[in-house]
Amino acid sequence: MSVEPCMTRTDALGARVRQIEGVDIWLNEPLSRYTSFGVGGPADILVAPHTAAALAEVMRVTSVEGIAPVILGNGTNLLVRDGGVRGVVVLTTGLKQMEREGDSVIVEAGATLATACCHSAQQGLSGMEFAAGIPGTLGGALIMNAGAHGGEIGDITEWVEVVNADGSIRRYESAELGFGYRRSGLRDIGAAILRAMLNFVPGDPDEVHHALCETMTVRCARQPVTMPSAGSIFKRPEGGYAGHLLEQAGAKDMQVGGAAVSGKHANFMVNKGGATASNVLALIGAARELVYDKFGIMLEPEVCVIGEDA
Ligand SMILES: Cc1cc2nc3c(=O)[nH]c(=O)nc-3n(C[C@H](O)[C@H](O)[C@H](O)COP(=O)(O)OP(=O)(O)OC[C@H]3O[C@@H](n4cnc5c(N)ncnc54)[C@H](O)[C@@H]3O)c2cc1C
Repeated sequence: MSVEPCMTRTDALGARVRQIEGVDIWLNEPLSRYTSFGVGGPADILVAPHTAAALAEVMRVTSVEGIAPVILGNGTNLLVRDGGVRGVVVLTTGLKQMEREGDSVIVEAGATLATACCHSAQQGLSGMEFAAGIPGTLGGALIMNAGAHGGEIGDITEWVEVVNADGSIRRYESAELGFGYRRSGLRDIGAAILRAMLNFVPGDPDEVHHALCETMTVRCARQPVTMPSAGSIFKRPEGGYAGHLLEQAGAKDMQVGGAAVSGKHANFMVNKGGATASNVLALIGAARELVYDKFGIMLEPEVCVIGEDA
């Protein structure tokens, strides 16, 4: 491929990525459009592969250029700083195939948990009801070991396949992945998750569907689900709940710019309109300090922060 001499490195890499079959690509694309907080600066290159082969080729091409791409799911546990992300961001939501195999389902990383929950209910498969209303993709859920109501995605995972930087695919059995509370060894592996096998047990479709609806009802009653947020900001500290500590420390309704602690659930920060990532980060810092001063507990953020300051 010939590259014009006046091309920037981003333009040249963009041109290479554009040649890969089965991808959409955007340059200088605001990531606020791809995160549930609705904040964050642009990605130099945002690329969305639609097939496993395209994802593998994106990983290979970026690695040859010495770039480790940031992998993006549904952006529901992500705070992108206001300066955005230099290099390449890979959006996985185009990878959403699901295939039943006995009482298990092989789900691609970009499928949302909502779709996987509905699919399992229709198929009369029980085991994923805990995940109803968690708004992420399977890939994001596996990285975070997302969970609720006593269940976690790691509990029902048989194996996970990832795409390495050189484009090769490797399968890990669940036992190799060190799933724990809101963490998994997949983060340390640093590859792009491609797909996973999830295990279910046979159930009555109506009962599974009913359980999903009940879980959703509880969630809507307790969480500010209609406001832009990234879910729980802090992890649960040992022996307590972050929301409870924040409320007791007086953090409810704290506000920095357009970012505020939710009046409905103190462990949720919401974008009331026009918030910037630096507003959210300042609010996280202030709320953390408040809890530390009152209880001597340093809360650990659950939300992932990426990118650079404006
Ligand atoms: C209203 C609301 C309620 C929520 N409730 C819950 C809850 O009850 N329980 C819970 O655990 N979480 C909850 N969350 C947080 C969030 O939905 C989960 O953590 C979810 O699993 C994140 O998935 P995602 O696709 O949005 O990941 P993203 O936010 O896009 O990414 C999260 C991390 O995973 C990485 N990643 C994503 N996809 C891949 C991939 N394919 N390969 C490699 N790395 C990848 C990203 O690089 C990033 O580090 C909630 C969020 C909101 C907004």
